[in-house]
Amino acid sequence: MFKADLIERAAQFRSADEDPTRNLSACPTLVLNADYTPLSYYPLSIWPWQTAIKAIFLERVDVVASYERQVHSPSLDMKLPSVIALRQFVKPSEFPAFTRFNLFLRDRFTCQYCGSPSHLTFDHVVPRRLGGKTTWENIITACAPCNMKKGGRTPKQAGMKLMLEPIRPTSWQLQQHGRAFPPNYLHETWRDWLYWDIELEE
Ligand SMILES: [Zn+2]
Repeated sequence: MFKADLIERAAQFRSADEDPTRNLSACPTLVLNADYTPLSYYPLSIWPWQTAIKAIFLERVDVVASYERQVHSPSLDMKLPSVIALRQFVKPSEFPAFTRFNLFLRDRFTCQYCGSPSHLTFDHVVPRRLGGKTTWENIITACAPCNMKKGGRTPKQAGMKLMLEPIRPTSWQLQQHGRAFPPNYLHETWRDWLYWDIELEE
């Protein structure tokens, strides 16, 4: 069958649910790499179910687990996929994006001066007015009180010590940290793929 026909067949699937937008957000599909590791942790690699079904018809992915909810086309009923795996391995990027979330994750959601997990903000180690740049190597997680105390000074001038020298983390390093900080919502069939190493330790 031609690709266009397959895509058209995939597009014929309709959920019995009256509200398609609600359904779309309620049944996302977790996408695993060909080695069954998640493509990325943050943001999690998630596709809308329509995209997942299209990929199944194009034989680009295998279904690993499914939701109970079904979708229907004129010729076929199928359960919505909750976890799929790519057939072809995608090389993960070595370095993660420089985002607020990833920065907090690198620092394990703790102030790098006092270790507090509360009221977290970002601090330029070398202040901007002294030429400090907004980079992985110069931005750290700091709690609001430490940020206030440090003010526009360097840690040395303020008499404050960093727990760790800030570095640009690799994706692998962030993934190690990420397992300790799960996203708020995970479908139960996703957990095995995200936390397999933690479960082995228990
Ligand atoms: Zn602090």
